[in-house]
Amino acid sequence: MDSNEVIFLTPCFSHTIWGGNKLRTVFGYDESGDDIGECWGVSAHPSGDCTVRGGAYDGKKLSELWKEAPEIFGSFDSDRFPLLIKIIDARDDLSIQVHPDDEYAGVHENGSLGKTECWYILDCDEDATIVVGHNAKDKEELKDMIKSGRWNDFIRLLPIRKGDFIQIDPGTVHAIKGGTLLLETQQSSDITYRVYDYDRLQNGLPRQLHIDQSIDVIVTPAKSAEESVIHRTDDSKNRVIELYSCKYYTVSRMSVDGEAVIDISGAPFTIMSVTEGEGSVNGNNIKKGDHFILPHGTDEAKAAGNMELVFSRP
Ligand code: ZN
Repeated sequence: MDSNEVIFLTPCFSHTIWGGNKLRTVFGYDESGDDIGECWGVSAHPSGDCTVRGGAYDGKKLSELWKEAPEIFGSFDSDRFPLLIKIIDARDDLSIQVHPDDEYAGVHENGSLGKTECWYILDCDEDATIVVGHNAKDKEELKDMIKSGRWNDFIRLLPIRKGDFIQIDPGTVHAIKGGTLLLETQQSSDITYRVYDYDRLQNGLPRQLHIDQSIDVIVTPAKSAEESVIHRTDDSKNRVIELYSCKYYTVSRMSVDGEAVIDISGAPFTIMSVTEGEGSVNGNNIKKGDHFILPHGTDEAKAAGNMELVFSRP
């Protein structure tokens, strides 16, 4: 067996009140329904554990591979697969939410990890906006705005365009608005505190809110609007463009046109997603919607075709 074999994964899907059908109509996934909110492309989380497709590990869950073959992942020091890669189709607005950091989640959520996440905007409606940050200057004002329901004063909406990148550190108020298709790289965690849900009902009832936890973890004041959305400025081809790097992940992208060699040496392993077009990587045919892992010891990815790749490394 070739120890540098590319590991392809079959995604998991989740259906939500705000989901749409673009994961089928735009991404080509074989999933029915008009409420498909999320495709978990690379995940070993218990709420959606992806299955290896083809090759030596065909049929194994990613969580099993993580435990049974740590050499694939460079013996990365973590008791669980650390990242989760999703594609999200928001037909309607998501609730306004915030995530705790590792320390708060460890104490208040049974040792769970906190959640740092980031968004790469794959497509959005013209004049689209996103909720990032808030307008409270300190904790007192934050409490007052939330407890008295001054949502229009509280929520900060920022304009977005295709190609923008947004880092959501723990404590950042955020929400995806309807008409947005994005790729999310995040810590493998599910801990979300819902601050406000637009007073919507699901099966006749409001969804649970977590007001006290939210007030605990929301950072005041918020990061400036200018720092919160990183606009796309570089359209060059066949060049690795780093989108963001933090202690949990480095996310980059490349527009491949023809042939390109991507140096991935030095990372424990590399996760890639094809977000546009088609082609090949290290001799394997790939197309829009594919997600795969390049194992430890793979020094380069030889890409060919006409496509966009987004890659995430721990
Ligand atoms: Zn979130």
